[in-house]
Amino acid sequence: MIVGERKPLEEIKAMVESYKRLLILGCGTCVSVCMAGGEKEVEVLASQLRMLHEKEEKKQEIEEATIQRQCDREYIEPCLEKIHKADAVLSMACGVGVQFVAEVAGENAIVLPALNTEFYGANLGAGIWAERCAGCGRCILHLTGGICPVARCAKRLFNGPCGGSQRGTCEVNPETDCAWQLIYDRLKARGQLEVLEEIIPAKSWKPSLSGGPRKVVREDLLL
Ligand code: SF4
Ligand code: SF4
Repeated sequence: MIVGERKPLEEIKAMVESYKRLLILGCGTCVSVCMAGGEKEVEVLASQLRMLHEKEEKKQEIEEATIQRQCDREYIEPCLEKIHKADAVLSMACGVGVQFVAEVAGENAIVLPALNTEFYGANLGAGIWAERCAGCGRCILHLTGGICPVARCAKRLFNGPCGGSQRGTCEVNPETDCAWQLIYDRLKARGQLEVLEEIIPAKSWKPSLSGGPRKVVREDLLL
């Protein structure tokens, strides 16, 4: 899932205080699962802002809504009336949702981010999420024992460790496991160490880093 974290209340307050009618818009998918931007979080944020306004004797109308996905036109369109009524929409989706709601709602719609979008990650236990994929566009997990060196090695190394690992931890962040130690251990446990003899060619970062936004087009699904 895409993992996000809510911005601090003070930052959100400063972002929205000049708007008279505010719609706080939650997203019912990834950010709801990681408890950053779903229906409950919309309720909590709306209450916090209302309390602040009461304390400071400020007036702002706050509407609340949550749609299934802010990255999908079919869920945004039924909410357009509410979106257009508001002076600003405070989106509790990831950065994709923030941008796509504005795109669907039209250029006059002001859509602001309530979250910081962090990474693609997995839930390791109550309250802990960890990065597992960086969406690099050319998956090599079959060559690395199913452990991603792009997302999990601090130097994004493709062909073995940097040499700075200490007792299995990363030299850049000793609180993190060295990704290449994990890769080695897993391949060894599987009896597949020969996989490491294959040289993984240097990755071209061009499409992902300097070629503009990427796109996937499925010809078989086009109408
Ligand atoms: S190699 Fe890593 S970053 Fe790239 S797609 Fe696979 S899991 Fe994601
Ligand atoms: S110690 Fe391991 S995880 Fe850290 S940068 Fe070096 S190879 Fe990558």
